[in-house]
Order: sequence, then structure tokens, then C-alpha cells
Amino acid sequence: MLSIDKKHNQLIFAGKTPSELEHIAGGTPCYVYDRNKIKSNIIALTNLLPKKIKLHYAIKANPMPNLVAHAANYLDGLDVASHQELLTALSTGIDPRKISIAGPGKTQKSLLAAIISGAVINVESKTELVRIQQICTLHNKKANVAFRINPDFELKGAAMKMSGGAKQFGIDAEVFADVFSTMNEQSINFVGFHIFSGSQNLSVDSLLESYRKSLQLAFELSKQINVIPKQINIGGGIGVNYHSGQVPVDIQSLCMGLHKIVEELDEQLMDTEVHLELGRFLVANAGMYLCKIVDIKESRGKTFWVCDGGMHHHLANSGNLGQVFRKNYPVLLANCIESKVTHHVDIVGPLCTPLDIIASNISLPIAEIGGYVAVMLSGAYGASASPQGFLSQGEALEVLL
Ligand SMILES: *Cc1c(COP(=O)(O)O)cnc(C)c1O
Repeated sequence: MLSIDKKHNQLIFAGKTPSELEHIAGGTPCYVYDRNKIKSNIIALTNLLPKKIKLHYAIKANPMPNLVAHAANYLDGLDVASHQELLTALSTGIDPRKISIAGPGKTQKSLLAAIISGAVINVESKTELVRIQQICTLHNKKANVAFRINPDFELKGAAMKMSGGAKQFGIDAEVFADVFSTMNEQSINFVGFHIFSGSQNLSVDSLLESYRKSLQLAFELSKQINVIPKQINIGGGIGVNYHSGQVPVDIQSLCMGLHKIVEELDEQLMDTEVHLELGRFLVANAGMYLCKIVDIKESRGKTFWVCDGGMHHHLANSGNLGQVFRKNYPVLLANCIESKVTHHVDIVGPLCTPLDIIASNISLPIAEIGGYVAVMLSGAYGASASPQGFLSQGEALEVLL
């Protein structure tokens, strides 16, 4: 729900007007993140989830250290995918055992840091397992290891599929037992499984199906090796309705389904924790990208608003981060929300490329130079997922309020 200052017909975000946000941030373009929203997102979901299911945050969605530290107060764990993200997670003060590091091709540096700090490593290949064991022998340490499994099913309805078929992620389910048998128990403390099937899924049914199948697969594999896993990370994948026409995930019914699954598997789950790792769902609606109109021009019947920000700060909004057909994010003229008169405009950024689109053919009130353009749902995969060096226009400011 948008918060609007009715008297001045402008957007209120994190309790502030667009010009107040510009002054606080020190200029535009800027990302603004609302700490209260992040907290309430996490608490609301935690309250609906079965106690057995622990909520983790995948830092790659938004790695701003202050934001991660704030979120960590309300979370059960953090998932990271690089040495730098591991350091961000450790600096929150969270128990390192509640941090897991995933990703193919982990560097020696990140493996060593994870082993010494005690974080859980989601091992992605046989080579990586050997590497971990070598480091452990060298440093006389034991690594906490979960096996990331590439299941033989994929997440139906996921915009970004990360499992099923041939994948660079995880160890194929059918060779897991073989790889496990080469494990050196002196070096490795086996903690469980990580099965992540895909991202940006808006279907409750297919999310539940993938969670159920992931748990079943984990128990099948644990039977093969005759070891009870301490934890099973079933991924996340809960999507965000970025575009008009998309229906948000019904979290009540998703959580009811999860309660059912946990009850069905009650006996098997006795000594096993289930981890749900979410990125965008926890932070997307807590972030806004704010930029300013620097030029308004007409070209052969079309109106263009040229802004001081664009795709170099917000690649996902420009449609260039994995979208096949570009669709608009919710984009507003933040200093004039409601108007009887609207027209269709194309909103673009300052880069010398036609890919630099903020919104195309969007119906908005009449604007003036200096007006504020706000891209909502921008708390995930924004600044850190964009080519901020492209065309040397400078980086976006980021503030957490
Ligand atoms: C990217 C990623 C996530 C987060 O995905 P969202 O779509 O942002 O929820 C979770 N787990 C792993 C392993 C990932 O790679």
C-alpha cells in the first residue's frame, strides 16, 4: 500500500516526502530502504511459519551492511555467496553456525574464512569437497558442511530455474551417495542438505510442491547414507509481484501448506531443522529508487522524461536482468500522485543506450523538470545487481531510514 500525503499529493516513503529524502540522502539518484518495513516483513512471515521452519535471508538480494545487520535482529540465519558477504554476515554478530555459504566456484579465501569462522559450507561439487578437506587438514579444523543437491525436478513457475537437468549448481542427486562416501569424517561435520530450485515464483501450489519434493529428496538421500540431517535448506523462491497483472503470493495459504507438510513429515523431521532462505520477498517492498527529471522532450508524438538515474543503478527495472519481455515496475511521479489529467510517457535515464529505460509507455500525470520519479519494489537486486560503472555516471546513494 502506498502512503500518500494527501494535502500535497505526494508520496511518503519511510515517513518522508521525496524532497526530504533527497536532502537526507545528499542528492539524487538514491535508494531509500525502510527499516520498519523490513522488520515487519520478517516478523509477519515468521509468525505464520511453522516453528520448525527457520527463516534465513539471502544477502545477495540486498547486501547493504546496515540493512543486513538490522534484518539479522529478527532472522534465524543468513545465506551468503562470497567472501565479502560472509564478512557482512559475520559482522552482524549472528552465530556463525547460522550462516551458510553457497555458490559454485567458491574461492580458497572464502572456503578458508568459512571453515575458520565455523559457517556452514554448502558444497557444490566433488572437487570442492576435496578442497575443503585439504584446507581442514592443513589448519587442523573441521568444516560444517551441507551438500547442495541438484534435484531431478525443477521448480515449476519459477522465473529463474536453478535446478533440474544439467546445472552448475549442486551435486546431482543420483551421484550424491558416491560423493558422500569419499568424505573424510575427520575433516567434515556433515550437517545436512541444501536444495534450491529457483527464484521469483508466484504460485503457491508450485512452491509447496517444490518444498515437499525437496524434503522428500533430502530424506531419501539421508536414507542412502544412513545419517539423519541436522538441517535441510529447502530454498525459498517466493516471488514479488513487480508487474501489473501479477498476483502476489498468498502467504497465508503458503504457510498453511507448509504447516501441513511439516505435520506429514513429523516423524522424519524429529531432529531436523528446516531452513527457508528468502531474498527479494523480505526486502523488495522496503526499497525505493528515487531520481529526478532533468529534461522533458517530445519526439515524433512521444513524450520522454529524461532522468538523472537509470539502468546503471537499476538494471532489473530496465528489464536487462534476466527478463525476456520487458515490463514496467510500479513507477510513480512521486511529487504528483493523483491527477485528473494523465498522459503516456517514456521515462529514460542518462545513458547513451536505448536499453536505459525506467518505464515505457506508462500513464502518469503531467510533470515538470525537477519532478521526482520513484521506482517502487526496489529493495532487492537494485544497486548491487547493477553495472554501476557503466558510462561512469557515478554510483547511486543508499540510505536506510
Ligand atoms: C538468489 C538465491 C536466493 C534468493 O532468491 P530470491 O529470489 O531473492 O528469494 C536464495 N538462495 C540461493 C541459493 C540463491 O542463489
